[in-house]
Amino acid sequence: MRLDIISIFPEYFAPLDVSLIGKARERGTLDVRVHQLRDWAYDVHRTVDDTPYGGGPGMVMKPEVWGEAIDAVIGASAIPGGGHVRGSDEDEGRDGGEARATPQASAPGPVESQPVAPGTDAPATVEPTIVASLTPVLPRMIVPTPSGRPFSQELAQELAQEPWLLFACGRYEGIDSRVMEEYSGRLRVDEVSIGDYVLAGGEVAVLVMVEAIGRLLPGVLGNAQSVVDDSFAPGSMENLVEGPVYTKPPVWRGHEVPAVLLSGHHGNVARWRRDEAIRRTVRNRPELAAALDPAKLDKHDRKLLDELSFRVRRKDVAN
Ligand code: SAH
Repeated sequence: MRLDIISIFPEYFAPLDVSLIGKARERGTLDVRVHQLRDWAYDVHRTVDDTPYGGGPGMVMKPEVWGEAIDAVIGASAIPGGGHVRGSDEDEGRDGGEARATPQASAPGPVESQPVAPGTDAPATVEPTIVASLTPVLPRMIVPTPSGRPFSQELAQELAQEPWLLFACGRYEGIDSRVMEEYSGRLRVDEVSIGDYVLAGGEVAVLVMVEAIGRLLPGVLGNAQSVVDDSFAPGSMENLVEGPVYTKPPVWRGHEVPAVLLSGHHGNVARWRRDEAIRRTVRNRPELAAALDPAKLDKHDRKLLDELSFRVRRKDVAN
């Protein structure tokens, strides 16, 4: 999967070198390219924001600079057979971008694109036709914003199927709306919120999404089954959160591991885990429990929900 991230703070993405996502990048499962938005601002201060129309506090990100940046990142691929687009590292082929990255001190830092200066020509190391065949034609664009549709495990699963994602990180009061309008005509554009709170910028939201998406890619997690058992996972965990987990020793500071987990009886263990998932969901996430699909509940589930005085049928919940 290819991920392009445009931001005025590329250094925010250093964590993408670490752990599961870092390994996925090393293996080539994930090809992450971080771009400095200001590289497409041409005034002396490299300005990316301006005062809002209609007045009020704060600043809004300028459409021109975003347009140039996005065109450059998607540009060469959008033109059949490649094409030389200033500011794009696309014409260097999939590995060429890495070669031009500025590694941070000791650890290999996130890739920050360095646009080709006006008038200079980057040497093409890969035939344009090969580049075109390696890269999907256009990315799906994700714009983090508190006003977007909620990010969820389901959306993470959907995005994990995409070959190419482009994240546009807003700052200040956000990006001029015409940018999303403009690209909606050419790309699939989703405005996405990671929760009902307001961050200072889209960078952390993108880190959250990239981690949630990246761990779903084939081969990233050691055990593919763990994704299926996760909280919110489509399937048997839909609208459920996972129950408590334990490891050795069997007794720690007087606290015992539930006996069923030591029994070796797989059926009983599975039942216990589901019961605990239901209990926790009712306790911590009643709105999710209310959305449980009655058709997917067995007799035992329904009895437990009754004991917990929680009716699954929506009309009961509404009462
Ligand atoms: N005035 C805006 C908030 C701007 S916050 C409003 O009230 O909706 C600045 C930037 O932070 C946003 O453009 C977005 O990129 C990011 N951001 C803040 N909260 C976010 C959230 N909950 N989910 C995703 N992105 C968020």
